[in-house]
Amino acid sequence: MEKEISFKDLNLIPHLEKALTKLKYTIPTPIQSKSIPSLLLGKDLIGIAQTGTGKTAAFVLPILQRMEEKYPRLVKVLVLAPTRELAAQIGESFSQYGEFLKFKNTVIFGGVGQSRQVNALTKGVDIVVATPGRLLDLMNQRKLSLKNIEFFVLDEADRMLDMGFIHDIKKIIAKLPHKKQSLFFSATMSPEINKLAKTMLNNPVHVEVTPSATTVERIQQQVYFVDATSKNNLLLRLLQHEHLTSILIFTRTKHKANKVAVFLNKNKITTGVIHGNKSQNARTKALAEFKSGSIKVLVATDIAARGIDVDNISHVINYELPNESESYVHRIGRTARAGTDGTAFSFCAAEERNYLRDIEKLIKQKIQVMDHELHSEKAKNATGAAAKPAPKGNRRSPRGSKSKKNFSKKDPSSDNKKSFSKKTNNSGKDKFKRSFRRN
Ligand code: AMP
Repeated sequence: MEKEISFKDLNLIPHLEKALTKLKYTIPTPIQSKSIPSLLLGKDLIGIAQTGTGKTAAFVLPILQRMEEKYPRLVKVLVLAPTRELAAQIGESFSQYGEFLKFKNTVIFGGVGQSRQVNALTKGVDIVVATPGRLLDLMNQRKLSLKNIEFFVLDEADRMLDMGFIHDIKKIIAKLPHKKQSLFFSATMSPEINKLAKTMLNNPVHVEVTPSATTVERIQQQVYFVDATSKNNLLLRLLQHEHLTSILIFTRTKHKANKVAVFLNKNKITTGVIHGNKSQNARTKALAEFKSGSIKVLVATDIAARGIDVDNISHVINYELPNESESYVHRIGRTARAGTDGTAFSFCAAEERNYLRDIEKLIKQKIQVMDHELHSEKAKNATGAAAKPAPKGNRRSPRGSKSKKNFSKKDPSSDNKKSFSKKTNNSGKDKFKRSFRRN
């Protein structure tokens, strides 16, 4: 067995050690102990790791250690991140880990006015953390230059490509000086990612922490087979349990995220929502309220949730399963941050059955099936065309379907009460509670 190392073994400078002591970090996470020694030697690195593994400190600490104080301040470090939330989070990490050093950082992203960002650049910063679009904008306006960059980090490269940032990234890379230390992080590897990594790295060290070896194993994962029309009802029932203290709910679309939030708010569960159509201010506010605990539930889409770093999320609920299996790993990684345990529930309707099969293949494990009173055998056993979404244009909205006639005003979830009450009896309810309490 490998000997567990401590931060003391990594030869970090006292100013960084002091910050880590203040944060109460004593043991480096696997990505940190594997990356930091090579990064301190100035090597390029390709890291396969997802958010939640401690990868931010894995690159922030050695960069801070290797930087030199130079005045006037010139931008020496550039970190590119796919979302505003992740960029803000990385900026915060530079401030936290660098508290006892003199470097300044600023975060640059779109969706807000540029004047504060330009002011910060004009005053002088050493570190810029940015999303690609706004960075290019400011470069084109000659508000910042990349010619003094000594350290370049591309974070969540896979998500960058998914979000269509490849051209922006190439334009930015073309403006960087040849001599620099480059770091490349991605949660997944694909030929496309590999190609991009090769263009920007020079003889890199490879470091990989697989999701199955880290987060996924510590998360209790359960699946609820349920008809799409009963998901609201199931959600309400689950949320009534007290040990669900801080819940992040995922949907596939922005529209559905809004609908779930409206539904929960109507049912007196104060819920925030974040997705790409929300203004930056609305997103920041919702996130701050969720972090502080003033709202218990946050509904998010996959992209908006990237970079959400909230400790103590007790439960992740996949109201809808993601169509990309990797997103499942990212989603559930929001709970069980940095060594804590967490729980993830997934609702699976018939048309999502194949998504679940793909996920189980990826994580190489079967997810525990929950026994509950809204259980749908149809969803559990769906195969073939019934196990995937109907082709576009052929989808029947549940609202327009016949079942609407059965909606009962008394039923807060607006689900099909008839089919629900048919299955409901006391013993069913008890069974539901019993099976639920196990988590
Ligand atoms: P990241 O994967 O970089 O988003 O980090 C996930 C979380 O782990 C963040 O909340 C960090 O503050 C925390 N963290 C990072 N490294 C350590 C460590 N060595 N010990 C304890 N917590 C850590």
